[in-house]
Amino acid sequence: MSTQAATEERTVVIGLEVHVQLETDTKIFCGCSTEPEEDEEPNTRTCPTCLGLPGALPVLNEAAVEAAVKVGKAIDADIPETTTFHRKNYYYPDLPKNFQLTQYDAPICQSGELEVRVGDEARTIGITRAHLEEDPGSLQHAGGSIESATHTLVNYNRAGTPLMEIVTEPDFRSPAETRAFLAKLEEVLEYLGVFDPTRDGSLRVDANVSLVPDSAVADDGTITGDALADVNRAEVKNISSHKGAEQALAYEVTRQENVLRRGREIEQETRHWDEARGVTVSMRSKEAEKDYRYFREADLPALEVSDWKEQIPIPELPDARRERFREAYGLDRESASKLTSTKAVADFFEDVAESFDPELAATWVADNLLGELNYREMSITDVEDRLDEFTRLIELVAAEELTVKNAEEVVLREMLDEGEDPETVIEREGLGVAGSGEVEAAVAAAIDGNPDAVDDYHDGDESAINFLVGQVMQATGGSADPGEVNGLLREELDE
Ligand code: ADP
Ligand code: ZN
Ligand code: MG
Repeated sequence: MSTQAATEERTVVIGLEVHVQLETDTKIFCGCSTEPEEDEEPNTRTCPTCLGLPGALPVLNEAAVEAAVKVGKAIDADIPETTTFHRKNYYYPDLPKNFQLTQYDAPICQSGELEVRVGDEARTIGITRAHLEEDPGSLQHAGGSIESATHTLVNYNRAGTPLMEIVTEPDFRSPAETRAFLAKLEEVLEYLGVFDPTRDGSLRVDANVSLVPDSAVADDGTITGDALADVNRAEVKNISSHKGAEQALAYEVTRQENVLRRGREIEQETRHWDEARGVTVSMRSKEAEKDYRYFREADLPALEVSDWKEQIPIPELPDARRERFREAYGLDRESASKLTSTKAVADFFEDVAESFDPELAATWVADNLLGELNYREMSITDVEDRLDEFTRLIELVAAEELTVKNAEEVVLREMLDEGEDPETVIEREGLGVAGSGEVEAAVAAAIDGNPDAVDDYHDGDESAINFLVGQVMQATGGSADPGEVNGLLREELDE
């Protein structure tokens, strides 16, 4: 390794290894469920295969392969005709077979890419590979931490959950870019229907960080493989969120800068992100690939995906959908973004937009509905089967049978809080729009009952009209339209 001069300017270089849990009903090599049961006992969601018992054989889950092919298509990867599985050998108690079934030299997705946006800049991040593998079990250190535990328990319920490991090129130049990438990746995976971001531990990130001397960076920003291999880097483990990635990497960049400034060398090592303390701590020197003694899994034949992959469709992806929303519905960038934030939101919006003017549909879905859901920590999936109730609510407003104010501030809120349909809320709260007779009577009463305000109006005091509108609104329980009341009052007063 070259000695790095303390004074040299350097460029931040980051590459990610992202583990995501694929949403399938059953585990990747056996028929056990991937869905934890409420209060389930340890080691109950298991079978001889995921417990690694002698003689038990793996059978590859078709749904996991389909999910991987979808990911490959979405990131524009090459999906080779034949893909194979390997054993990655290491001893750790969470690994019942003492090897992990994974992919090695023929992964299912190769050389893909994903575009991310940070501020105004669009960057294309290369994806070296994405492969299928099984999750190990989980360890429970009695007493909490590994340092103070008297003993450790192991739970294999998670063992065999299908994972996809997505390895990027060292193309990131700032911690903020990694955060944008992870958000984008999750969005794409969610659109594909292969990933549930709300599931505990569904995203796990290892980040490799180094500081490369500026002299090794070409004008177009590229860095040669030699220069990348020449610097020592730290691999930061235990990152589980977008924000965590940005924080951990910001910390790690500063730490490395400080080490170099003091004239010391960066160690090639694995570090642990301690989220609670906001620091990375040294774990061990990094293991080399040869330590794993990879060899072909003889119990699984090579997998041919050549014809099959053509029959696995993927939906329109978020960027394309955002673009289409802007063009087809004339939405501005912000509304289009909000309305495509998840596939479920976008689908819901398109269903509403079938019945209404797109601008009205956008206001109701993006501003009113999403705003109220957000406030309640609910999501569109909680209400997507109530599309017609929601459509009826907008219809009532469009037909002027309900004021916008009542629809937004009373009916919608009660619909969400009480799970009631709009008609029930309107009936109970007495919110039907006041009939014209009722409004006219209230206008007349307001004029009769407030001679001072009437005089003020005639003397040219415009604020007097607002007072009178207020009186009418009060008398009609807010069910009149303020603009209309204003007009009616002026007609009467100007006679
Ligand atoms: P290893 O064989 O040590 O696992 P790889 O070449 O497979 O190394 O790369 C692992 C990860 O490290 C990838 O995400 C890659 O982008 C990243 N990486 C490689 N070189 C660097 C570097 N100089 N600085 C930061 N990350 C790097
Ligand atoms: Zn099993
Ligand atoms: Mg590697």
